[in-house]
Amino acid sequence: MTNESSTPGTSERRESLDFLREIVARDTESGRYHGRVVTRFPPEPNGYLHIGHAKSICLNFGIAQDFGGVCNLRFDDTNPETEDPEYVQSIQNDIRWLGFDWEDRLYFASDYFEQFYQFAVQLIKDGKAYVDSLNEEEIRQYRGTITEAGRPSPYRSRTVAENLDMFARMRAGEFPDGAHVLRAKGDLAAPNMKMRDPLLYRIRHATHYRTGDTWCIYPMYDYAHPLEDAIERVTHSICTLEFENNRAIYDWLLDSLFEEPRPHQYEFARLNLDYTVMSKRKLLQLVEEKYVSGWDDPRMPTIAGLRRRGYTPEGIRLFAARIGVDKTNSRVQIGVLEDAIRDDLNARAPRVMAVLRPLKVTITNYPARELEWLDAPYWPRDIAKEGSRQVPLTGTIYIEQTDFSEEPPPGWTRLRPGGEVRLRNAYFIRCDEVVKDPEGTVVELRCSYDADSLGKTVGAERKKSTAIQWVSAEHAVVAEVRLYDRLLTVPDPEAGEEGKSFKDYLNPRSIEVLKDALVEPSLAQTPPGERFQFVRHGYFVADLVDSQPGALVFNRIVELPDSFNKALGKQADGTPADQGKGTKEKGSKAVPAPANAAVTTSISDE
Ligand code: ATP
Ligand code: MG
Repeated sequence: MTNESSTPGTSERRESLDFLREIVARDTESGRYHGRVVTRFPPEPNGYLHIGHAKSICLNFGIAQDFGGVCNLRFDDTNPETEDPEYVQSIQNDIRWLGFDWEDRLYFASDYFEQFYQFAVQLIKDGKAYVDSLNEEEIRQYRGTITEAGRPSPYRSRTVAENLDMFARMRAGEFPDGAHVLRAKGDLAAPNMKMRDPLLYRIRHATHYRTGDTWCIYPMYDYAHPLEDAIERVTHSICTLEFENNRAIYDWLLDSLFEEPRPHQYEFARLNLDYTVMSKRKLLQLVEEKYVSGWDDPRMPTIAGLRRRGYTPEGIRLFAARIGVDKTNSRVQIGVLEDAIRDDLNARAPRVMAVLRPLKVTITNYPARELEWLDAPYWPRDIAKEGSRQVPLTGTIYIEQTDFSEEPPPGWTRLRPGGEVRLRNAYFIRCDEVVKDPEGTVVELRCSYDADSLGKTVGAERKKSTAIQWVSAEHAVVAEVRLYDRLLTVPDPEAGEEGKSFKDYLNPRSIEVLKDALVEPSLAQTPPGERFQFVRHGYFVADLVDSQPGALVFNRIVELPDSFNKALGKQADGTPADQGKGTKEKGSKAVPAPANAAVTTSISDE
């Protein structure tokens, strides 16, 4: 009922073509690749995927879909030190969950090691590569500066025969790490420093998770990546802007070894999202140093974390479509992601009642009736959607502590001493008496109900009343509820004070656990992964790891929209609406919902 998934469809497509799709369209029309469109998503298996990768996945698989092409999944596993089969598995899970399929095109760069080697031999034979025996520091010095041309290494003039011999001995394991490298013969005066004899191979005596100890020389990214693309006959190789200067090497290498139509590289702006970090290296630190419970901690921006948090693939794809692709780097407000998730959940998460911080209410004139089952629609505001459940009412119920105020501010529409409030799907109650403990804390309200008010709202005062959520004390199910907030306290940790790391900005209140929340009995058997709107609180999911029927744990996926909380005068969790939830951050990009955004029903049902 709640979690039906769909494959990416045309509704997520943008009206006008982005600059990458324009390039692909142009190449398709001109017949450059004879109608073929082949993209790839090339993760390095050195961590879990994050929401930035989701942007790249939606882009690469999306372009292939739009143009009748294919997208390969290729593990760019050329670095033996950081890679792990656990990551290979998690990456595949995450891409599938996002709704994309590489079919039989699962490739590993490590399967191409022998081909990479043979291409290097070819470059040496063509006089285009040489074995250099300078050390790292010397190589840096010889390379020159932006204002000063590089100097040729004394080893640059080695003969082809000598280079072939040295390279073979590098492969054979004759030398220790760092003794020699293979370099391209580039242009030592090139303004683009990357072209000043880029490194192609290094010696690394390390065990690779797939090739074991077969190799002790490993190709550099700049050498391996274009070859991987060419071997797979990729047409459009899409990467992030940091690689703009590397494109010269990409072109040099492929022009040296392949004929047109060969792959071409295009760069787009990476996703930077406020209040979080987006680098596997940093996320790994959070995991290893136990700032979070794991890669799938619901506060993490990883796909696994977002999934456990309750985000939907559809919502993430909607987000990717809304932010589009750009040629300049910028930051995206977290609200853009949350809006997309809400817009998706709004249409699919049934409305139910949960009381997160319970306050006991005794309905003094009710006991005679003892128990009543009342019909409560799952979609109170959407007449097109059917479905309801029965909720039990008894003489003892719980309401939200924040729905009662002894001295309410002007405009209060909830319960106060002597005042009335509508119990959602049930009757009006009036607060006759406030019971306090010796410390003066309100522990119980004694109320009377209007037996005539079921489904009727007569009178101006009653019309203004909020319909508050409640649960029957006898029937309510205890649940643990985990409320999440931002991972970081600042939008951009990189722009923080000198000498501070992103870990200095971790939000100490990024999780709040409520052990004694109460949910209505219809939720007792909720399976893990099922999503609901807890009315007036936000969207929640039964935790995929810790929840089970009968022992429920709910994660708050996302709050209701700010406008809704402002109308309430408070955050749903009881904190004032103007505290710490500002969405307008300087330098961040707010992306307006496109006209076709599927917002069909009222979100708040108030
Ligand atoms: P990280 O710095 O998080 O480790 P990465 O770029 O090293 O990321 P890869 O596994 O090499 O991670 O990335 C796979 C693909 O995802 C690459 O094509 C890369 O350009 C893309 N990608 C990575 N981060 C982002 C991002 N923030 N936004 C968009 N695309 C990204
Ligand atoms: Mg990388």
